[in-house]
Amino acid sequence: MRYEDAYRRSIEEPEAFWAEEARAIHWHTPPQRILDYSNPPFRKWFVGGTTNLCYNAVDRHLETRPDQLALVAVSTETGITRRVTYRELYREVNAFAAALREFGVGRGDRVVIYMPNFAEAVFAILACARIGAIHSVVFGGFAAHNLALRIDDAKPKLLICADAGMRAGKVVRYKPLVDEACAAARSPPPAVLVVRRGLDADLAMQPARDFEYAPLRAKHANARVPVAWLESNEPSYLLYTSGTTGKPKGVQRDVGGYAVAMALSMRTVFDVGAGQTMFTTSDIGWAVGHSYNVYGPLIVGATSLLYEGLPTHPDPGVWWRLCAQYGVRSMFSSPTAIRVLKKQDPAWLKKHDLSALKWLFLAGEPLDEPTARWISEGIGKPVIDNYWQTETGWPVLTLLPGLDLKPQKFGSPGLPNLGYRMRVVNEVTGADAAADEKGVLTIVPPLPPGCLSTIWGDDARFLKGYFGHFRELLYSSLDWAIRDADGYYFILGRTDDVINVAGHRLGTREIEEAVATHGAVAEAAVIGVADELKGQVPVVFATLKDASAGASARRAAAEGMLERVVAMLGAVARPARIYVVDALPKTRSGKLLRRSLAALAQHADPGDLSTLDDPNALEEIKRALARGP
Ligand code: ATP
Ligand code: MG
Repeated sequence: MRYEDAYRRSIEEPEAFWAEEARAIHWHTPPQRILDYSNPPFRKWFVGGTTNLCYNAVDRHLETRPDQLALVAVSTETGITRRVTYRELYREVNAFAAALREFGVGRGDRVVIYMPNFAEAVFAILACARIGAIHSVVFGGFAAHNLALRIDDAKPKLLICADAGMRAGKVVRYKPLVDEACAAARSPPPAVLVVRRGLDADLAMQPARDFEYAPLRAKHANARVPVAWLESNEPSYLLYTSGTTGKPKGVQRDVGGYAVAMALSMRTVFDVGAGQTMFTTSDIGWAVGHSYNVYGPLIVGATSLLYEGLPTHPDPGVWWRLCAQYGVRSMFSSPTAIRVLKKQDPAWLKKHDLSALKWLFLAGEPLDEPTARWISEGIGKPVIDNYWQTETGWPVLTLLPGLDLKPQKFGSPGLPNLGYRMRVVNEVTGADAAADEKGVLTIVPPLPPGCLSTIWGDDARFLKGYFGHFRELLYSSLDWAIRDADGYYFILGRTDDVINVAGHRLGTREIEEAVATHGAVAEAAVIGVADELKGQVPVVFATLKDASAGASARRAAAEGMLERVVAMLGAVARPARIYVVDALPKTRSGKLLRRSLAALAQHADPGDLSTLDDPNALEEIKRALARGP
C-alpha cells in the first residue's frame, strides 16, 4: 500500500483505520467502541476491549514459534550472551510473575524496575504486564536522588533491581543507590527484590525488606500464572521524562492502544515481522527501549536483540558483528552512538557480512547530514531518521519503508506517521505557519493509539503542559519545526530548555537545582553547549553568596558544585565547565536568559536583549568566558 493512501485513510476515517489495525493483536474480548472522544483532549481507544501486553508478547507465539529466539541479551561487559526462546520466555515470565505475587503485587499496583539491559529486566517487565501491575522502569544511570523522586511519584509496592550493572569494564553497584533512594523517599517501597548477577560481592541485604530473586525463581520454576485481562484503557506502565520543570512527568501508557500501535509501527516503520530480528541499541530505561527492545518486537513474534555495553568494546565492529551473527534485519540506534563510531576507523564498518541488514533507524535527537552520510555510505544501507517523544511512545515523523519508501531529505525526519495529524503553528497566535516558516510542532487531538493517556496522577499537568498553549486544543510537542513545500518536517530544537548529553536528556533546571544545593552558591544557570562527541554538554554559570570570595575559594566552590551534580544526578550530568561569575543575565521579570548565555558560550549572537535587566551581567559573562572556567 502507498503511504499517501494509508495516511489519508488514517486521518479521514480514523475509526475504520484503527479497527482494522486492531486485528493485528489478540483481544480477550473485542472492543465495543473504537474511539471515545467525549471528554477532549482525553480519549479512549478500543473501549471495552480486554487484552494483555504479556499475552500478546509471549503466550500468543507459543503455538506458532516456541523454539524461535524471542530475546538475545548480549553483554560485552560481563561476556555473557543469553539466548531465550519463546518457550523459555514463557517459563521465565511465569516464574517471575509468581514471585511478584508473593509480594502481594497485583492489578494496578506500581512496580519500579531499576535494572540494566539484561534478560531478567525483560522478564520483570513482562511479568508485571502479565498480572496487570504497572511497571515503571527507571534508567539505571540515574543517581539515588532521581530514583527517589520517581519512587515518590509512583509509590510502588515493590522495587526490583539488579545487584549491579557494568559500564566500560567497571561495575556500577545498583543496590547502594537503591538503599539511598529508599532512605530519601517519602513513600519507599515496602519490599525490594534483588536479581543477583554476581557482580557485587559486598551486596548488603536489609532483613525483612530485601529479597533475592534466585530462590523464588527456583520455587516457581514451573509456575503458571493466569493473565490479567485489562480493559484497553487501563494503565500498563509509567515512564518518566527527564523533567525540565523539576518534578519529572510520569507518562502513563494504556494497554490496547499501545499494543496496536506497536504492531502497526513494527510493520510499517521498522519493517520487521515474525521470525525476523531487530537490534535496538537503546537502554530499556528509555521510551525506545520499552517500545522497540521489548514490546514491539515481541508482540509481532520477532527476535529482539538487547545489548549491554559500549559500541566500541571489545572493538568498534561489535554491533556489526552482532548484526551478521543474528541476521539482524532492522537496527535502531541514536545519532550519538553513531558519532562515537565515527571517531573510529571506517574499516570497522566493512568487516562483517551485513547482507541481512536492510535498514538503520536513528532517533532521539537531530541527525546531522555528515553523520547520516558517513554511516549510510559506510554500511551501504539506508539510514532512516525518526522523530518522537516519550509521550508518544512510537514515531511521529518518519519515512515508512514497510509501505513504500519516500525520498529522503537530509536533516528531516520525514513525513507524519499514520494516525498523526500534524500542524506547525505560530507560537503566539496559534495560526498555521506558512511553508518553511518556523513554528511550534503540534498534534491535532485526539492523539492516536499508543500515545500517553495522561500524566500519572496529574490530569491538570497533562492538560496545561501539553494542551494549554493555544486557544485551540492542540498537543504541543514543545519543539520548533518547519514544514517545507513538499510536506517534510524539520525539527529546530526545543521551546523549553533540555540538554541532551549523549542521548541522555537532562533538564537544565534539574542540574541548576543540584548546583544550588552547594552551600556557597547563590544562583546558577545551566546551559547546553554543542559537543562533537556527546551532542551537548552542560556548562554552569554560578554566582556565590560571598561576592568577595577570592580565586581559591571560587575554585573550591566550583569543585564542590561538580561533586554535588554527580552525586545527585549521576555522571551523565557532569558539567563540562563551571564559571563562577558576579552576576547572571536576567530578564526584567527575573527569568534567566539561558538562550543568550548559550549563544555567548558558543561565540554566537546573543539575540534579542531588549528584556535584559542589567547589561553589565552580560559583559561579566563575556569576561568570564575569556578568562576560562
Ligand atoms: P522532557 O519532556 O522531560 O523535557 P525529553 O523531551 O528530553 O524530556 P524525550 O521524550 O526522550 O525526552 O525526547 C523527545 C525529544 O527529543 C523531542 O521532543 C525532540 O526535542 C528530540 N528528538 C527526538 N527525536 C528527534 C529527531 N529525530 N530529530 C530531532 N529531535 C528529536
Ligand atoms: Mg519532552
